[in-house]
Amino acid sequence: MKDKEGVKKKSARKVEKSGVKREKGIFLDTAIINANVITVDENMSRAEAVGILNGRIVAVGSNEEIESMVGSNTKVIDAKGKTVVPGFHDSHMHPLLVGHFARGVQLTDVKDIPEMLERIKEKVKETPKGEMILGFGWNQERMAEKRYPTRWEVDTVAPDHPVFLIHWNAHIYLINTVLMKQKGITRDTPDPPGGTIVKNEKGEPTGVLLENAIDLIAPGFLETGAGLFSYEQSKAALKYCADKAAEWGLTSIVDILAGDAQVKAYQELEAEGNLPVRVNFYLGFQYLDYLIKLGIKSGFGSSKVRLAGAKMIVDGSLSSHTAALREPYTDMPDSKGVMRLTPEEIRAFVENATKNGIRVDIHALGDGAIETVLKIFRETMNKYKVKDPRFKISHCIIHGPDLIEQFREMNVIANVQPVFVMKGQHWIPRLVGPQREKYAHPYRSMMEAGIHMCSGTDAPIETMNPIMNIYAAAVRKDAQGIPEGGWHPEQCVPVEHALKMVTIEGAYATGEEHVKGSIEVGKYADLVILTDDPLAVEPDKIKDIRVLLTMVGGEVVHSKME
Ligand SMILES: [Zn+2]
Repeated sequence: MKDKEGVKKKSARKVEKSGVKREKGIFLDTAIINANVITVDENMSRAEAVGILNGRIVAVGSNEEIESMVGSNTKVIDAKGKTVVPGFHDSHMHPLLVGHFARGVQLTDVKDIPEMLERIKEKVKETPKGEMILGFGWNQERMAEKRYPTRWEVDTVAPDHPVFLIHWNAHIYLINTVLMKQKGITRDTPDPPGGTIVKNEKGEPTGVLLENAIDLIAPGFLETGAGLFSYEQSKAALKYCADKAAEWGLTSIVDILAGDAQVKAYQELEAEGNLPVRVNFYLGFQYLDYLIKLGIKSGFGSSKVRLAGAKMIVDGSLSSHTAALREPYTDMPDSKGVMRLTPEEIRAFVENATKNGIRVDIHALGDGAIETVLKIFRETMNKYKVKDPRFKISHCIIHGPDLIEQFREMNVIANVQPVFVMKGQHWIPRLVGPQREKYAHPYRSMMEAGIHMCSGTDAPIETMNPIMNIYAAAVRKDAQGIPEGGWHPEQCVPVEHALKMVTIEGAYATGEEHVKGSIEVGKYADLVILTDDPLAVEPDKIKDIRVLLTMVGGEVVHSKME
């Protein structure tokens, strides 16, 4: 007896040492072998192979261990030594706009206004007269003229089509005269609340609209595509985005600002088997009352389409000087930016959502907006004693040590966009000056404070490649490797941490860390196979890593494996 027990003990120890964790007596649906598996579990442990059954991970261990569970019906994927990581998460994107913009005029890289007009002219040629022309990505900061283009300039190439051109930051819009007339905007039209119709010295609208003035053209467009596109077009746009996401290795995406069109379309796509990735969505704050009335809480939905919470935008963007700062802009000393809502409005939203079990994500870029929101979070926490509200702030670009401390105290999640560092480095110094610039995108400081940070690309603001979020957080350079040494390199995070931000932290941000975000037994079989190991290559080369295979719930949704 003693001997037998001794043997048992020994074999148990052996299993423990080898690291295999499995359920007994099963044959796998899929086995991934010969892999360099970075599990992103608590110890960042490695493995050689992964076993999958019924859409879940049931074993993680050595080739030998996983092969012992291979049956005659098991599909074996030989990773040939390539790296396997948990499926990537994008914690902040706008799938509808990704889809619509993909069919519009791309203006992200135009160097000057003539080039911009040339591209619109090309689109005009292939578009039936009178049909809407949509463009996206222009940015006066990156164009030679360094000023907003005007409607009269657009009219020279598009005299007969309505034209709607959205700025790179999606807070500024340019329309031509046809669209302006269609919408009845004249020199006498007053600015709508929270928006500006830019006028020239003669009082004529120049075609540029700021912030809420978009409501004059297409109210709710950024949420639902309303006013410009049909439901079927929007559904097709969402499918386009989901397919692209799978190609980029994303297994979970967050639609950060959804409306009724998206909710319906996502459900239909799922039912039709046309949704390759998991979608969490945040509904615009105007939907909050409906949710409460129905008793719907965060987490409602399926494993594929799920309500994560509600979203509110409280300030604007840096490049348009509308992010709300505590002190004036360095290059615009009479302005501290714009709060789009009053503290009372924000408080009512946060309190109502929180006490009804709906988690919030609040768009706040500037330290002024962040400070206001944190104060409201604290009051709400004290008032309702909610255990784990997982308050979240999107962007948090201009930060501060005192604000970081508050994030830590309240466990507020920072939903950050490391890819923004790539372009932001060029204007943040001019906008906020040397002192505040040190706390722009301060990922290292937040990491050291133990703050949960998840990464998003804000696509279509940036391309949705999650690997660029790892790269940018780790090296703080743009895609061309500029600047050498990185922009404020003291705020770089280790690659390992940047990887967590696009995997397990993404899962944590939507309250799903128990079912995804790492390669561990019991979790969804959401994973990707990469060309290289991000933890082994030179950090500068991370951006060149490509996705070979994407798996969601055990299904291969994208593959370039030979
Ligand atoms: Zn956004």
